Amino acid sequence: KPLIITIDGPAGAGKTTVSKALSTRLGCIYVDTGALYRGVAYEIQRCNFNIERTAEIEDFLSGIELNLKMEKDGLHLYSLSQDITDYIRTPEITMLASSVSAMPAVREKLLGIQRSIAEFNDAVFEGRDMGTIVFPDADYKFFLYADLEIRARRRYSETDKKEQTLDEVAASMAVRDKNDSSRSEAPLKPAADAVMVDSTHMNVEDVVEKMMAHIVF
Ligand code: C5P
Repeated sequence: KPLIITIDGPAGAGKTTVSKALSTRLGCIYVDTGALYRGVAYEIQRCNFNIERTAEIEDFLSGIELNLKMEKDGLHLYSLSQDITDYIRTPEITMLASSVSAMPAVREKLLGIQRSIAEFNDAVFEGRDMGTIVFPDADYKFFLYADLEIRARRRYSETDKKEQTLDEVAASMAVRDKNDSSRSEAPLKPAADAVMVDSTHMNVEDVVEKMMAHIVF
């Protein structure tokens, strides 16, 4: 049975960076599930689909085929055969991903994709509901968080194309955190059996070491 490690937490807590590093240490893959929600948002925007038309959402979703592929320079997201990796991190797609992720039909579609990846691969899965909903029986669960100001600073300094000021990044994160934690479907919260990791005063190496200390072979 494949090894499954889950890392959940709010935006900008360092989940992707830590998942990458941890997966390298463990020799397994990592899965950025936020990219899938961003992929759905990208398709909604590209097709000009009106998300108010909830009755048609399932039909719309059935036409979407998303694939995550590990490549030399990192994880890539494909929609059918188009590589959309470079288009899913804009401020607009970020906010749209947060709104569409509250839709049950969207979560259900992505649940299937996520579980099917776990059938054949040891993996670190990062997102919002990995330990609570998608993989309740995961081998190891972590909840990674940090103060909002620190998270906003990290996110701001890691984006090359500054489309937003530091304050705008912080404001957008606060809105997303609130959406993600207050929605009725799979709200962001730590699994009861998750190890809590506050990365406010820790660097990536420290976080990875702390997690590795919990993982026994
Ligand atoms: O992790 P990232 O910030 O890229 O995720 C984008 C959005 O997708 C989040 O704001 C959240 O609303 C949603 N998401 C989710 N469940 C996940 C991963 C992401 O609802 N497992």
